[in-house]
Amino acid sequence: MTPSDFNALSEILPQDQIVIQPAQVESLSRDFYWYSPILKRDLAGRLAEAVVQPGSVAQLRDIVRFAFHRRIPLTVRGAGTGNYGQCIPTHGGLVVDLAALDKVLEVTAEGVARCEPAARLATIETAARRSGWELRCYPSTWVKASVAGFCAGGSGGIGSITWGGLRENGTVHSLTILTMEAEPREIRLAGHDIFRVLHAWGTNGIIIEVELCLAPRTNWAQLAIAHDSYAKSFDFVEAIAHNESFRKRLVTNFEWPIPSFFGPLQKWIPTGKALAFIEVADDQLERLSHAAVSTGGQPVFTAPWTEIRRGAALSDYTWNHTTLWALKADPGLTYLQCGFSATRFREQVRQLKARFGNDFLLHVEFMKSNGVYTPGSIPVVRYHSDAHINDVIQACTDLGVSVANPHVNFLEGSGRWRPDDEKLVAKQSYDPRGLLNPGKMRGFAASLEHLAPPAAVAA
Ligand SMILES: Cc1cc2nc3c(=O)[nH]c(=O)nc-3n(C[C@H](O)[C@H](O)[C@H](O)COP(=O)(O)OP(=O)(O)OC[C@H]3O[C@@H](n4cnc5c(N)ncnc54)[C@H](O)[C@@H]3O)c2cc1C
Repeated sequence: MTPSDFNALSEILPQDQIVIQPAQVESLSRDFYWYSPILKRDLAGRLAEAVVQPGSVAQLRDIVRFAFHRRIPLTVRGAGTGNYGQCIPTHGGLVVDLAALDKVLEVTAEGVARCEPAARLATIETAARRSGWELRCYPSTWVKASVAGFCAGGSGGIGSITWGGLRENGTVHSLTILTMEAEPREIRLAGHDIFRVLHAWGTNGIIIEVELCLAPRTNWAQLAIAHDSYAKSFDFVEAIAHNESFRKRLVTNFEWPIPSFFGPLQKWIPTGKALAFIEVADDQLERLSHAAVSTGGQPVFTAPWTEIRRGAALSDYTWNHTTLWALKADPGLTYLQCGFSATRFREQVRQLKARFGNDFLLHVEFMKSNGVYTPGSIPVVRYHSDAHINDVIQACTDLGVSVANPHVNFLEGSGRWRPDDEKLVAKQSYDPRGLLNPGKMRGFAASLEHLAPPAAVAA
């Protein structure tokens, strides 16, 4: 950005909403990309030139007009908890930090939460529960993560065992976006049209409002169960996942030594055992405990699920938090995101373990995917080299295990690109100059030639 750009910017936004202090700019240009040693190396030094912090949609609109006319890239940021370096500005320009737009506007009697983009998921859950509802699914980062960041970057989480991924069952009721044009348009997308923007990493318009369909509120309980072997633990969680008489929010299990990484839980985690974490309706806890014991399982922890930050939450160790605990214990570890077959899981695992042993540690998150209970997985994987990670991915793919590769920084490579090119087509209309989070939608790369080369990579 030129001095003239900065002058023009200070005419549309007060100085205290423009961040230029280097340490702050750096921190607001980062997310959790460093879970991947490959992205940690490749994205080092990619920074915004400044960060803008609009306090209203009117201010956001001014920023969009300004950036469009001056051809300045805009990378939108919610809470910056994404992986893949989704909100790292690889082409410089401005990071747009929407943190101030964080209100839950309404929870309707029909169970729809209408929210500003940076409303935190935990705040929405609290508001929903007050009205007899709850989120259908949320990421394990829900305390910090924003609703628009979840829609633009996430995929599912706690609750997906019943409600499927975020993209399923109409959970995202509508997304209202601001387009990146000379005169930004406000467009409300509902039904199938949400896929133009859902999981598009902020490349296809800036989400300014989200409506989420909610589920009826349940009082949950948490149970941890140890089994002598991973095979027994898997048989148990698979049976519970399929048993629809249990109302569930979480069905997870881990191979040993993953449980040894969960520092604060060591007082009750038995050494050498596989562990299952389950959230079930509290009036079904006893029945679940009996079911566990009847399979040789040992209930090792039980607690009511209380609202945020009021007690231990097993979900703080699930989904991609498992990777965080693993990385804390051993920085040589990283992860993959895999979809195993619902029917061939055991054989797929047998072959992967035979080849990679303890370099591929099993962590399964059961979810309902297109109506089928599926062992989704975020295995903890040892990093030896880029080539080794690619070998593991190839081995998975050859066995029919799908991989959403978390070691790449572009949409098409990250595993959730829709083959119909719907997002690419929408981008021509919503961001014709390719200024929103440039470089992340590779199919649009041809139109990036007018942008400055990527920001210099620091040594
Ligand atoms: C420990 C850990 C655990 C995690 N667990 C899960 C999990 O269980 N499930 C899951 O799905 N994800 C998970 N994630 C990833 C991430 O936390 C979630 O996807 C989260 O919802 C992202 O929200 P955010 O506000 O932090 O988004 P950000 O990181 O700020 O942004 C994510 C993407 O959305 C875009 N974006 C943000 N706001 C807007 C907007 N208003 N308009 C358009 N685009 C926008 C950004 O440009 C970026 O591309 C995990 C990450 C970590 C580090």
